[in-house]
Amino acid sequence: MITIDNIHKAFGQTQVLKGVSLRVEAGEVVCLIGPSGSGKSTVLRCINGLESYDEGEIAINDNRVDTQQKDINQLRTRVGMVFQRFNLFPHRSVVENVMEGPIYVKHEPRQQARQHAIELLEKVGLGDKVDAYPQSLSGGQQQRVAIARALAMRPDAILFDEPTSALDPELVGDVLKVMRDLATEGMTMVVVTHEMSFAREVADRVCFLYGGQIVEEGSAATVLSKPQHERTQDFLRRVL
Ligand code: ADP
Ligand code: MG
Repeated sequence: MITIDNIHKAFGQTQVLKGVSLRVEAGEVVCLIGPSGSGKSTVLRCINGLESYDEGEIAINDNRVDTQQKDINQLRTRVGMVFQRFNLFPHRSVVENVMEGPIYVKHEPRQQARQHAIELLEKVGLGDKVDAYPQSLSGGQQQRVAIARALAMRPDAILFDEPTSALDPELVGDVLKVMRDLATEGMTMVVVTHEMSFAREVADRVCFLYGGQIVEEGSAATVLSKPQHERTQDFLRRVL
């Protein structure tokens, strides 16, 4: 479903991605791990066209991702993204935050968008916060709103960029539970995370990125428990 073929990306003189290839099948959960600065966010941003790449090719369901293309916004609606910082609109209620995309980007009728938004908020455990404002919610609750907002676009896949890194430890579990449920339901997901227990439990595949290259890739059990590459071993020693 997502095919990344040998992409390269530089910011000025700095080569940030040096030939990254990755295939994600429909329904698969791939966790991307690696040290800070290794290019994890850049890979995600290239997948949904927030960032251009210099060489290689990315395709979503056989449609090439090209930021110059006119229908790049169309493509972005099919691949949702959840960031470390949730970026909810502070002056809009929770349900309005979730309805916004479907109404303005997909031109869904307001009533239908609202109904769907409420269902999604119930799904992420926030059925009682529909009319609340973001600032009255905890970080974990806001992140769950952000996940509902991504789901509201009925995406084919969702990319998560360290979705729990900004949260207090006691709030992480609720967010991971929502993500685990999505994975169980068959959502295609690429997850950048430092939550190794989540990766171990949920990921079909783990990729270790180092210096702009995937240096090791395999099942969670293999990569996390029996890493072959010295860089992976070193990284895991630090985070585990
Ligand atoms: P990670 O998510 O693994 O921490 P990033 O993909 O954010 O890594 O960044 C990889 C490298 O690219 C880093 O060295 C970072 O400083 C650099 N970088 C990322 N975004 C930009 C940008 N917009 N302009 C210049 N350099 C950038
Ligand atoms: Mg990052």
